[in-house]
Amino acid sequence: MRVNIGPLLADRGAIRTVAYSEWVEPPAEDATLLQPVMGELVLAGTGRSVCLTGRLRTRLSLDCGACLAGYEHPLEFAVAEEFRRAAPFSAAGAGGERELDSDDFVVPVGPDDTFDLTEVVRQHLVLALPIAPRCREDCRGLCATCGADLNLGSCACAGRPADARRRLGAPGPAVRPGRRLTKKE
Ligand SMILES: [Zn+2]
Ligand SMILES: [Zn+2]
Repeated sequence: MRVNIGPLLADRGAIRTVAYSEWVEPPAEDATLLQPVMGELVLAGTGRSVCLTGRLRTRLSLDCGACLAGYEHPLEFAVAEEFRRAAPFSAAGAGGERELDSDDFVVPVGPDDTFDLTEVVRQHLVLALPIAPRCREDCRGLCATCGADLNLGSCACAGRPADARRRLGAPGPAVRPGRRLTKKE
């Protein structure tokens, strides 16, 4: 969905609301949208740029990092971005050294004054994804020995409910019969 901000660019104080509802591309390999991303966005002209703000929400299917089960994850996230016209080539300088200014954090729009709102939303969604998704706060994960889902009850190992992921990579106990010792004897 492309949005034209031409009319807002020069008009300080102009405001346009966008009722946003769109299926965006999956934000990660193991994340699937269960409903469109929805919410109200506001575009506000500042006189030389346009600010986009708002809160969006959706529901995703994610894989729990502890028990590996898929689960539904409601997600609400903020969107904030600022747009302006790209500086004309003559004013952009000949690539000489210059200091960063606030314009470097403003996204330039194309010559047709449009930007891709879908992509902006997708980028904010990616940043809002949980780094370590959990199906629930106290997920007990999988048994590192037998792989049983400890949320369903204790397994026969009766071992310590250690962090499954950490233990899976750990080397097992070294089983070395004392052969060398026997040779020497
Ligand atoms: Zn889990
Ligand atoms: Zn077990």
